Amino acid sequence: NRRIVLASRPKGRPQLGDFRLETQSVPTPAEGQVLLRTLWLSLDPYMRNLMDEVGPGYAPSIEIGAPLVGGTVSRVVASRHPQFQEGQLVLANAGWQDHALSDGSDLQTIDDLAQPSHALGGLGMPGFTAHVGLLDIGQPRPGETVVVAAATGAVGAMVGQIARLKGARVVGIAGGAEKVRHAVEVLGFDACLDRHDPRLAAHLAEACPHGIDVYFENVGGEVLDAVLPLLNVNARIPVCGFIAHYNDDGAPASPDRRAQLLATVLQKRVRMQGFIILDHYGERFDAFQREMREWVQAGRVKLHEARVEGLEQAPAALAALLDGRHLGKLVVHVAD
Ligand code: NDP
Repeated sequence: NRRIVLASRPKGRPQLGDFRLETQSVPTPAEGQVLLRTLWLSLDPYMRNLMDEVGPGYAPSIEIGAPLVGGTVSRVVASRHPQFQEGQLVLANAGWQDHALSDGSDLQTIDDLAQPSHALGGLGMPGFTAHVGLLDIGQPRPGETVVVAAATGAVGAMVGQIARLKGARVVGIAGGAEKVRHAVEVLGFDACLDRHDPRLAAHLAEACPHGIDVYFENVGGEVLDAVLPLLNVNARIPVCGFIAHYNDDGAPASPDRRAQLLATVLQKRVRMQGFIILDHYGERFDAFQREMREWVQAGRVKLHEARVEGLEQAPAALAALLDGRHLGKLVVHVAD
């Protein structure tokens, strides 16, 4: 049983030495447990956050020497649990390892999905994040302007497509020409800008002639700086993440814009609300999945994933994810 554990807490960008590949014997399920074989592992930005010491109120930090956490599509290879049979596919949290045990409480069976890894992307946690953040907090109305960065990523691609379905005008921001093209031509965004463009702020103003009503915050950094002056009165900002800062290492940061942020929130009566998707599972997730499956089957929402081959590639792939080197939802193919 191969597993990848946290060897040290990264300083800045994660390095390969912050991870260690270990081999152990395959565990045996006790009464009430199942043994899972990982087929697909999801890579997500929150993994970088959990490699740091994190304060209370968020998910717990990964301990040094413990396997990295992560959502998986796994196969039940042995069952001593009445509800699960050998051979079933499940959505699980097996983490960065070939095999894991579960008592079943965190498992969801996956049936009739043409591509099971989609349960880790648009039909799973990132799609659900987009749905809850955009519709509950963002509340876009027809004709309003919605801006989202990391626009072709796991969450952003879904935010933009759902906003379009709700009749909003969607402007994306993404890294590089290929992603910009994908957002407009494949995902159907009204416009998309390159975050590396030195004139991003000016181009965003041109792309949003009626200002911004909803800014779905995925990144922070220079994108937030460009958005602030364009926010309309009563704008909404679901704060989903701020990936531009996850690798900050305590070095002197960009200019201090706290006063500008607070002045904008106050003067424009902006509603900014953070959310953590783990709070919203329960019955809500099933309703989301039904709706999203219908949209996907009807061709109204497109799912796009980037695949990496082999568990041992996960550390390099996570570092690449944080740099924006993949287009779409990033998954690791661990086994067939
Ligand atoms: P993505 O698939 O979008 O991958 C991350 C993307 O972030 C990169 O591809 C890159 O896109 C962009 N990025 C990286 N560095 C920067 C930077 N310096 N400035 C601007 N953009 C950058 O990841 P996800 O869709 O999985 O996650 C998106 C956000 O949602 C993250 O902040 C994540 O933490 C958050 N999240 C929050 C959840 C919650 O419960 N609140 C749940 C799930 C996700 P590009 O190259 O196109 O700019």
